[in-house]
This record gives sequence, C-alpha cells and structure tokens, in this order.
Amino acid sequence: MDIQLVGYDVLGPGGSEGIRYAWESKTSPYYVESATFMQHSKGTKDNICGYTTSVSSGCVLKDMDLACKFCRTGTQLPFGSGLTSIEIAKQNVFMVLCDMNCSDYPDLRNNQREFAYMGQGDPGFSYNQVREAIQITNIVMDKLDQIVFRHIIATSGVPQMIKQYINDVQQKFFSSRTTMHFSLHGTKKRSQIMPINNLFAYKESLKELYKIAPITGEKPCIGILLLKNFIPINSDKPYTTDFDAIQEILAELDPELVRLSFCEFNGSPDLGTYDPYDENMSIKILDYAKRKGFEAKLFSSFGRKEVTACGMLGGKAPQNVPSSKWAILEKEAERLVLAAVDFVESL
Ligand code: SF4
Repeated sequence: MDIQLVGYDVLGPGGSEGIRYAWESKTSPYYVESATFMQHSKGTKDNICGYTTSVSSGCVLKDMDLACKFCRTGTQLPFGSGLTSIEIAKQNVFMVLCDMNCSDYPDLRNNQREFAYMGQGDPGFSYNQVREAIQITNIVMDKLDQIVFRHIIATSGVPQMIKQYINDVQQKFFSSRTTMHFSLHGTKKRSQIMPINNLFAYKESLKELYKIAPITGEKPCIGILLLKNFIPINSDKPYTTDFDAIQEILAELDPELVRLSFCEFNGSPDLGTYDPYDENMSIKILDYAKRKGFEAKLFSSFGRKEVTACGMLGGKAPQNVPSSKWAILEKEAERLVLAAVDFVESL
C-alpha cells in the first residue's frame, strides 16, 4: 500500500477531542491527513466516533485553479495524486482499530462509526475509489463486529458524481447508511469563494440532490459557512453570509428535500482576512431556517486550535511518532483491507 503512517497530533487537551494522523504517500511528497474525533458532533455525547478521511493528497481543484478560497488544503497544499480505494479504506480501518484498542479511552471500543470523506480532496473527482472504499470498509467493520453509523460523501458540487451516487443507491450498492453532503456556501455570489461554480453551477448539483430524499427517505445535507467580511488572499472583495445573504440562499432551497448545516468558519491568516462571526447572528439564522421549515444545525468544529478542522488540513508535519502498537495495528488494517478486497473480487 502506498500510504504509511508517519506521525500524529493530539486534538484538544490530552487528546480529549481526537487525533490527527499524517500519512506519507509514495506518489506525493506531501502528507495525507485523516482525523478521528471521539464524538462526531461537538457538544453531544451519543457514542458515535467521527472519522475524517482523505481521498487524495491535496485537492485536484488546486491544479485546476478552482480551489475553494476558504480551504487550506486547496490553497496551501499542492495536489499530489488521488488515493486508491485500498488507501482510503486503510485510513478508515486503521482509525477504528486504534479506537477499539485505545487504553486511555476504553469506551471508544463499542462506539458506532461515522466516516466523512471530508479530508483532503473532493470525492466528486474520486467517486469510484470512494464507493469501493465504502464497500471494503463495511466488510471489515462487519468482521470486527463494529456498527457503521453512516458514511458521508461530501462534494463542492460535481453533479455527475451525485448522479452516480443516486444510481448506486437505487441499485442498493451500499450495505450501510451512506449520505451526501453538498458544500454550497453561497448562491448568486458563490463563485467569489468557490470557483468550481464556474465549472459546475450550483443549480446543477441542487437539481440532482433534490432526487435523493424521495428515493432514500433521508434528506441530503447542504453546508453553509458562516463568514463575515472574508477577503481571500489575492482578492479585494469581502464575502459575507450575514442574515440577508442567508435569506437569499435559503430562498433557493426546498426544505422538503434538503437539510442544512451551518458551520463556523475556521480561519487562519494564510487564507485571508475575516471578522469574527457574531454568535447571536448564528442563532438568529438557525432560528430563521427552522421557521422556514428546514431541519437545521449549527455545527462547531473540533480541532480548531490545531488547524485540523474542516477545510484546515494543510499537510503540516506531525509532532509525534507512532508507537510500535500502532505499527502493529497498521499492519492489521492492511491485512483486513486486503482480505476484504479478495472477498469482493471473489463475488
Ligand atoms: S474544500 Fe474540499 S473541494 Fe474545496 S479545495 Fe478544499 S479539499 Fe478541495
């Protein structure tokens, strides 16, 4: 396998939030990153571990000059290469094995597992690998007697990928709950911070997204960043998702077909300048969305301090070297993943 664990960082005091893992890839000089969070949602204790998995080294949008302006992976890290399904699944399986064998937090052993393909890269450009990785991961989780809460496939808006996902759902390809997350963040002014919008207009992705709930009975999620006067590097145009902007965005969305996740922005100086978002405004926006009939959540990221939260992975060198116990678990992850691949090929 072409990715090997080379280090890690703890998140939160004493690792109380989770761990960021750094992997070396033979096809790229830059670190691939994954992260594990003891709870998948901040502020709740529901015994679900969250895992953020990378699908490439860096993001292909960087090479296309279409990287999201608020994202450290896209703006700071050169694109290396896409990862194989085996490499994607290996991250998942290794992180679960670590949690199952964690002596500091033995409770993690019996938690459910939520895998979000929200690390480096956009699954929209790696869908074949991601769907296979989900299949492999599910086989291994069954073998380990672990419960998959869900897989979350995230995209900045690649409509063709959403179509493929819908086809897979209809064909019952996924043996576990597998949902879609569309990082929208804007409508009329979206191209200002998400140049991919010039390639694939958000309305194309929305059109596909609206087909999901009638099939699965579960609404896909729309992500909206809460930004105040964000001026990306090399730009002089501020971007704000204030109350008026949110009203404008929500006017284009159907509460019967999508749910919303508002997310605080994890800024850092290398992304540009911005003002802190007013907490009262976040609450006002959440209330407004609910009054308009949306299922909506205000999401607060883990790993802010260590710049490991959503959109913040930038390939930085890890501070700690993996223990010999982790080296054994990594080998075990490889063995389990390859056995699952053999099983799939025998079908
Ligand atoms: S947010 Fe995702 S799609 Fe956008 S540049 Fe970053 S990694 Fe790529």
